[in-house]
Amino acid sequence: MKPRLMKPTMPEYTTTIAAVSTPPGKGGVALIRLSGENAAAIAERVFVPVFGKRLSERPPRTAVYGRFLSDGVTVDDGMALFFPAPHSYTGEDTVEFTCHGGRLVTHLILESLFSAGAEPATAGEFTRRAFLNGKLSLSKAEAIGTLLEAQSRAQILLSAGRDRLSDRLDGLYREAVALLSNSEAAIDFPEEDLAEMTKEEQLRATEELADRVTELAATYRTGRAVSEGIPTVICGRPNVGKSTLYNLLLGEEAAIVSETAGTTRDVLERNVSLGRVLLRLYDTAGIRETADPVERIGVERARRALSGASLVFAVFDRSEPLRDEDRELIAALKELPAVRIAILNKSDLPRKLDEAELADAFPYTVALSAQSGSAEALSVLTDRLFTDETLTLGDDAIVFSARQHAALSRAAEHLTAACTLLREGYPADMTGEEMREALASLGQTNGREVNEDVVAEIFSHFCVGK
Ligand code: GDP
Repeated sequence: MKPRLMKPTMPEYTTTIAAVSTPPGKGGVALIRLSGENAAAIAERVFVPVFGKRLSERPPRTAVYGRFLSDGVTVDDGMALFFPAPHSYTGEDTVEFTCHGGRLVTHLILESLFSAGAEPATAGEFTRRAFLNGKLSLSKAEAIGTLLEAQSRAQILLSAGRDRLSDRLDGLYREAVALLSNSEAAIDFPEEDLAEMTKEEQLRATEELADRVTELAATYRTGRAVSEGIPTVICGRPNVGKSTLYNLLLGEEAAIVSETAGTTRDVLERNVSLGRVLLRLYDTAGIRETADPVERIGVERARRALSGASLVFAVFDRSEPLRDEDRELIAALKELPAVRIAILNKSDLPRKLDEAELADAFPYTVALSAQSGSAEALSVLTDRLFTDETLTLGDDAIVFSARQHAALSRAAEHLTAACTLLREGYPADMTGEEMREALASLGQTNGREVNEDVVAEIFSHFCVGK
């Protein structure tokens, strides 16, 4: 069954929604949002200006001081701002109230808005309405989601580039529309000489579009490294300095480290940003053979973490010759598809380790002193391995969601297929079919053509009030 297409220019909502947009709990002020066609009328039943005219009779978007009523009694005083449609976040009539940030008082005011005719907003519903009213492309909405969950400065910069990405996606879409209308003209009126482009021009334009789509899709390498976290395992025999390295990496980014509930003491799991790259870092127990049942559980967990890793930091003590335990680890790691970096720790001490023994298993080595040094060399190498260094966060259009990347890759495939058909002189209707598929995929990236389930999934990650 073909997915139902959403048209962002056709709002489907008639209800007026309300929610507290600030986090629950005690605070200086709280923000309550009200959006929908009855926003002004509902607001006026709950909020009475202390001086002068009613809220809807004031100049738009000006702060008005007044009192909040609950069952006809004043419960608080605060401010209201009326944003008449379409000049609001959602594109609908919107009123934003600020009241005192007590849990009960915000609850009472919200309840009053519900009694006056508003309905509770669901998670992300304000932003979802903004998207459906054409105020915001889907890629921008996704970028706002990234901003809300940002754990690193790099993620914030990535989200800040959302206009650039949205413009690039729109530009590609418009180019595909122009090309398609050209081949459609050739299908509908084959005898007439209507097509504005010659076959050669069409081929060249399609090839160029395919290249630009492919180029944008390739930025996902950086986008993913910044936004998703590369599963990374630190391993090595006891006493080489794994914990010291782990603490060094955490310490450098202590402010943005988050702990995951449910991890055990034998595999610690944290998010750490190393330069521009976000690591999902696992500090494991060693993976040697052991008779101790408790230790064996830790070892089994370490093996599992390793099998899912994309990056492995294998730590060695550079101040000692390699031991058999190190060699066992090297042999085990060689089997993994992950990118392997050998970390030659304790480089503050005289070197005794023969690095030639590592060359075969590790394409990359970094010497450092976890105890006294910095992880800068490791940060530079990781950035080089997992991102396109030519891209600047916040300045370049960078694809950061798996969904957008998949849609762009599909578009590139269809455009390439269209080029092949054009080159081999197939009839226009066959080329047109590939172009239509390419256009549909491009339309999915910015939300011009998108399945309702996809929209629901994107907004389900937002909080209520956003
Ligand atoms: P793990 O068992 O691999 O986690 O190793 P630890 O991090 O507990 O470190 C083992 C010992 O090596 C500790 O005494 C650390 O202080 C020491 N150590 C760790 N890193 C360095 C380093 O870079 N230089 C020196 N000289 N000692 C280190």
